[in-house]
Formats: sequence, C-alpha cells, structure tokens
Amino acid sequence: FIKTYSEEIHYGGKFRGILLVLRDVTNEVEIDRIKNELVSTISHELRTPLSSIYGFTELMIQRDLPPHRQKKYLAAVHSETERLSLLINDFLDLQRMEANRQEYTFEPFDLLAMMKDLKQLHSLSSSSHDIRIFSEETVQIINGDSKKIRQLFGNLVNNAIKYSPDGGPIEIRVTEHNNRVTVALTDYGIGIPSSAMSELFQKFYRVDNSDTRQIGGTGLGLSICREIARAHDGEIHVESIEGQGSTFTVDLPLNPTPPL
Ligand code: ADP
Repeated sequence: FIKTYSEEIHYGGKFRGILLVLRDVTNEVEIDRIKNELVSTISHELRTPLSSIYGFTELMIQRDLPPHRQKKYLAAVHSETERLSLLINDFLDLQRMEANRQEYTFEPFDLLAMMKDLKQLHSLSSSSHDIRIFSEETVQIINGDSKKIRQLFGNLVNNAIKYSPDGGPIEIRVTEHNNRVTVALTDYGIGIPSSAMSELFQKFYRVDNSDTRQIGGTGLGLSICREIARAHDGEIHVESIEGQGSTFTVDLPLNPTPPL
C-alpha cells in the first residue's frame, strides 16, 4: 500500500515542477487490519460468554437460591469461562502464526506413535467413538514441530468426534509415498454442505444449521490446522458428503524446511 503526497513547486513566479512523495504504508495498513479484526472479534465472540457469566453471577448475588440452582448456575459460569479461555488461546495462537511470529522447533518424531497416543487419549473420554488406525507399518519418522503437529491432529480428531454426535467409527489412515506422509481422518458424522466447503478454513467460520448450532466451537480450529500444515510445507484438504461424513487429509513432507 502506497500513500502519495504531491505539491507544485513555483519559483520566481514560474512553475518549476512537482514534488511527489510516495510512502510505503503496508505495515500501518496491516496493523490497522489486525486492530479492526481484534475489535470485531471482541465485540462478537467475547461478549456472548461474558454477558451470560454476568447474568448468572448477578442472579446468584441478588437472590437466595437453593443449593441445586446455585450449582447449576455455577456450572454454566464454569463452562462459559472455559469457552472464553479456549477462544482467547486459539485466537492468540492464530494471530501469532499468521504474523509469522510463531516459533517452531523442528525435530524428528514418530508420527504413528503420536496417532496411537491421540487414539488412546480419546478412547478414555469417548466410549461411543471407535478410533481405528490403518497404516503401512513402515517407520513414519517425520521432521517437524511435534507439539504443533499434535495440536493439528488433536483438532481434527476432536472435530471428528464432535461432529459425529451419534457415535460411530473414526478412521485414521497413514500412508507414505515419495518422501511425503499422508494422514486421512474419516468420520461418519453430520458432514459438511458443499456450499460451505470454500469457507471452511476461514477464521471464525462455522457451518450454521440445526445440527451444528448445538455443538460448541470457536471456528478457529481449522484455521490453526491450516497454518500449522503450511509451516511444515504441507497441505490440508477436505472431502465430505452432507449427512454421511467427512474426510480431512493432511499431506506433509517427511523433511520440510523449517520456517525462518
Ligand atoms: P469449531 O470450533 O467450530 O469446530 P473449526 O475451525 O474446527 O471450528 O471448524 C469450522 C467448522 O467446520 C465447524 O464449525 C463445522 O461447521 C465444520 N466442521 C469441521 N470439522 C467437521 C467435521 N469433521 N464434520 C462436520 N463438520 C465439520
């Protein structure tokens, strides 16, 4: 973005030329954009949980409520606080990644072991989803930031569970080809309408229909996944049939160049 300033130069009563100043204001424009985004995020996304926390606590202060009502309101305050904290963490994570200020520590790690670990973690908390891993048992050691890659797949497994509210299997396929590893996560849940596909990885985008309205979320998870994949020279894609399920595919080089 360039800002221009011009002025005619007169000297001795004669027109002598034009003074033209060009200033590169790209940085200022970018800072303005981030500020505006922050303001609109705060007004839309943070106000809702804050006003319910305010409402519930006000009720508890003003009225003598029986213990079971107090507990119910406290539980609501607790879950709204958790939502706020998740939202703020995700938002700050994403902001850091988009501004290229996220530091990545690349080291070799065992991708298949990570997937098995995630499976175990989720098997403990969800009994209605059977996570199945399919893999060629070659050694899938890849180079990358293992914490961030875990965050990426953690988000995808969480979504697969969240968006298949009736339970069902979640399949993880790990394959290796031409020095790249591909991880495909398939669920048999609510699926994604084709009209939403192009916006799915946009910040704060959530499909809005009667199924998704009951499922909590910030709309930031997939944007974070895409940023992490990009930082590893990788890609993320989705295929889905509404009402039948979705497959998210992450394709990563075994040996990416770490971001500067
Ligand atoms: P959220 O916090 O809302 O889950 P995400 O960025 O992770 O945000 O996902 C964006 C939107 O994409 C979700 O709100 C949901 O509508 C849709 N989505 C993501 N994963 C799935 C899935 N496995 N099945 C169906 N819809 C999904």
